[in-house]
Amino acid sequence: MLLTEEQINILKWKWIKVPYVNDTCIWCSACVAISPDVFTLNEEWKSVVLSRDSYEWLSVEDSIMACPVDCISWVE
Ligand code: SF4
Repeated sequence: MLLTEEQINILKWKWIKVPYVNDTCIWCSACVAISPDVFTLNEEWKSVVLSRDSYEWLSVEDSIMACPVDCISWVE
């Protein structure tokens, strides 16, 4: 299940860091290979974030570092 705006707000309210992928994604799939429990590719050729209770210990920082176009960040 994909992460919804409502879920993002709930996680932020709980001070849980949430990853975000912006529109510059080039569908290289590096993040999916590194963090398959966090990212998936959709039919619009973009990486999207899966719904989870927490994103700790799931190599999100490694995916951020590996993304060739720097389009992954944490929700502010
Ligand atoms: S690593 Fe970056 S460019 Fe590649 S699929 Fe993931 S978000 Fe998109």
